[in-house]
Amino acid sequence: MSNYPDVQLFIDGAWCDAAAGETIDIVNPATEDVIGKVSHARVPDLDRALAAAERGFAVWSQTGAFDRARKMRKAGELLRERADAVAAMMTAEQGKPLAQAKGEVLAGADVIDWFAEEARRTYGQVIPSRAPNVTQMTIKVPVGPVAAFTPWNFPINQVVRKLSAAVATGCSIIVKAPEETPASPAELIRCFADAGIPAGVINLVYGVPAEISEYLIPHPVIRKISFTGSTPVGKQLAALAGMHMKRATMELGGHAPVIVYDDADVEAATKAISAHKFRNAGQVCVSPTRFLVQDAVADQFLDRFTEAAKAVKVGVGTEDGVEMGPLANERRIPALEALIQDAVEHGGELATGGRRIGNKGYFFEPTVLAGVPTDARIMNEEPFGPVAIINRFNDDDEAIAEANRLPFGLAAYAFTRSAARSQQLRARVEAGMLAINHVGLALPEIPFGGIKDSGYGTEGGSEATEAYLDTRLVTQMDK
Ligand code: NAD
Repeated sequence: MSNYPDVQLFIDGAWCDAAAGETIDIVNPATEDVIGKVSHARVPDLDRALAAAERGFAVWSQTGAFDRARKMRKAGELLRERADAVAAMMTAEQGKPLAQAKGEVLAGADVIDWFAEEARRTYGQVIPSRAPNVTQMTIKVPVGPVAAFTPWNFPINQVVRKLSAAVATGCSIIVKAPEETPASPAELIRCFADAGIPAGVINLVYGVPAEISEYLIPHPVIRKISFTGSTPVGKQLAALAGMHMKRATMELGGHAPVIVYDDADVEAATKAISAHKFRNAGQVCVSPTRFLVQDAVADQFLDRFTEAAKAVKVGVGTEDGVEMGPLANERRIPALEALIQDAVEHGGELATGGRRIGNKGYFFEPTVLAGVPTDARIMNEEPFGPVAIINRFNDDDEAIAEANRLPFGLAAYAFTRSAARSQQLRARVEAGMLAINHVGLALPEIPFGGIKDSGYGTEGGSEATEAYLDTRLVTQMDK
C-alpha cells in the first residue's frame, strides 16, 4: 500500500525518529505484506517525552477551559476532513472493512467534540459553612501528566477517549499507542497538533509495551494511568500503579452474556446481535460471546444465527460489500483454533465455521458453537474473535446465574418484551453495561467501563472527565 506512511514518535511538539533509530515493521493482516515501519522508543526517548509532558502540563493546566475546548473542536474538524485518508490507513494496518474504519474515525471526532464541551463544565461546589465569615468550596484541578496504553482493535477509538479526557481537563499525556496499528492513532494526534495544542501537551510513543509501562508508571512525573487491554496485563499494571499510588482507569477483558428470553422478538434480536458479534471480527471487549437462549426459542435462534454467520461476507477490507476483515494479527488464529477444538472435545457442536480461511491473510470463518459445557475453556476465557457460543436455558434464575458466573463484568445483553424480566436484569446482572433489546453501547455521552475483573473507571459520560481531575478543597475565612 503505497500511501501508508512510516510512523514517527511525537515528542515535545515535533515528529521524530527514535534516538537509537530503531523501528518495528508493520504488517497488513489481509496480505501479510510489510507495509511500513514505526519508530521504536527506548528510555532516552521516554525521558524526553516525560520532560515535555511536565512542561506541557505547566502550560496547559493554566490555559482556560474555553480555549482548550476551542482547540479541541478544531482537532475534531480536522479529523472529519481527513477521515477517508485515515480510514484507509486503519484498514491497511488493522484489517477492518473500510466503512467500519471510517465510522470509527468519525465517531472519534464526536468523542473529541463531546469532551471539548465537558471541558467547560468541570464544576466545583460551594458548601454551606458553619460560620458566617467562612467560604468552603471545592475546585477541580487536572490530575497531572497521564500515561495511556491502548490496544490495536480500535486504533483511534481507544486513544481518543483517553486523549480527549486528558486534554479537555488540562492534563498532558504520553500515549503508548499500538505498535501493530500505529498510523491511524498518529494521524489522530496530528489533528490535535495541527489544531494548535501546545508542544508537550500530547506525546506519542511506541516500543515494547512492558518496557514502556514499567518505566512510565512508577516515574514521578506521571500522575495517572489509563490502560485498555487484557485482564492479566491490566492486573499487573494496576498493581504497579497501586505500588506508586497513581490513579488508574482500567478497561479490561469481557465475556459478554446475551440472554434471549422466550418472549423476545427472536428475528429482530438475531439480526441486531449477529451483526454486533462479527463487527471487527469479534475483536471487541464488549463482543457478545455467551448466548443463553430459553428452550422455547432456542432452535429458532440457533438456526437464524447460524444462517447469519454463514452469510457474513469475509474479505479484504477495501473490497466492496465486505462485512468482516481478517483477524488483526497472526497469534489470534492458533488461539481461536485451540479454544474451538477444546470446546468440541468437551461435547460442543460446531454449527458453522471453526477454521482459518485460506493461507494468506489472517482470515477466520464466522463460527457458531452450540451446547458447550461450562468447563470448556471458551466458556471461561475471552475468545476475542468471531466465535459465538449458543447454549440453552430453562429457568430465568439459571440464566442470570450463568451470566454472573465468570469473574468478568463488562457488557451484558438481553432480549425480552417483559418489563418484569427487564427489572430483574437491571437489578441482578453483574456488568458495567447492560443493553436490553438493542446494542447501543460506546457513545461518548454514556459511561463505558466494567466491574469485577473487567476493570474500573469509565471512559464515557461525565464521570470520564472526573477520572482526570482532582477535587481540591479551599476553605477561606474573610479578613
Ligand atoms: P496482550 O495481553 O499481549 O496485549 C493486550 C494489549 O496490552 C496490547 O495492546 C499490548 O500492547 C498491551 N500490553 C501487553 N503487555 C503490556 C504491558 N506489560 N504494559 C503495557 N501494555 C501492555 O494480548 P494480545 O494478543 O495483544 O491481545 C489479545 C488479548 O488482549 C485478548 O484476549 C483480549 O483479552 C485483550 N484485548 C483487549 C482489548 C480491549 O478492548 N479491552 C483490546 C485488545 C486486546
